[in-house]
Amino acid sequence: MELRSAPQRRKPASPEPSQGPCVASPSPSSPSLPPLPPRISRVLYLDLDLHHGDGVESAFFTTPYVLTLSVHLHAPLFYPSTGALDSSGPSNPKAQGAAHALNVALEPGCAEETLRRVFASCVERLKEAYDPDAVVLQLGVDGLAGDPCKEWNLNLAALGYAVERVLQWNRRTLLLGGGGYDSPNAARAWAYLTSLGRGLPLDTPIPPDLPSAQYELFAPSFTLDVPEGYMRDANTEETLRRVEKTFEVCEDKLRTRWKRVAG
Ligand SMILES: [Zn+2]
Repeated sequence: MELRSAPQRRKPASPEPSQGPCVASPSPSSPSLPPLPPRISRVLYLDLDLHHGDGVESAFFTTPYVLTLSVHLHAPLFYPSTGALDSSGPSNPKAQGAAHALNVALEPGCAEETLRRVFASCVERLKEAYDPDAVVLQLGVDGLAGDPCKEWNLNLAALGYAVERVLQWNRRTLLLGGGGYDSPNAARAWAYLTSLGRGLPLDTPIPPDLPSAQYELFAPSFTLDVPEGYMRDANTEETLRRVEKTFEVCEDKLRTRWKRVAG
């Protein structure tokens, strides 16, 4: 697997470490921002961290103007145990924030193919239905292969795909960090994902002029890539169809409520 490469350029990057478990930390947003809309009235908060984005979700339970969409592992005893597929916000269907806290609850072993599939069948369709003015993309990287969580099997290209797709929506976009507990891989990921956000995709070799103690952290590959491992993806066709059927209903509700009036 190859990351997007730009052999003519190599930019050093030093993302800040996160401050605690899965705490979002800011990184630069896209340089080629579309013009500000007259008023930002709808924000999509898309969370790709391994863990459910329970804190942000609950913070916006009272409003329909922020749609939270968390793609995460939901398994018995796995922290924080919230974010089931059928959980979509306040239980009262007449509450303002009802059906605006959505959850793509997945099984262990999620790899690139699964993430790409749910991105197309759930995330992109929700975005079309909600039609946000701005997007906040939380890039937790604890779902990468090799993370000490040992739950998902994503490669770095999968997260790069997500970033590129979101940027192609051409909305005001803010990229955030998140969880990620293998430090060299987190550094790889945030350097690469930030480079996509800047429109300057990094080359894959780790710069050999780093101090040797830091350079050796990137052994044995000394590349920016984080490849998939050999974990079985437990997201079967049945699992994914169940998720997609749920999201078809969510999409219909959103499309009806948020259809923009021409002119
Ligand atoms: Zn996490």
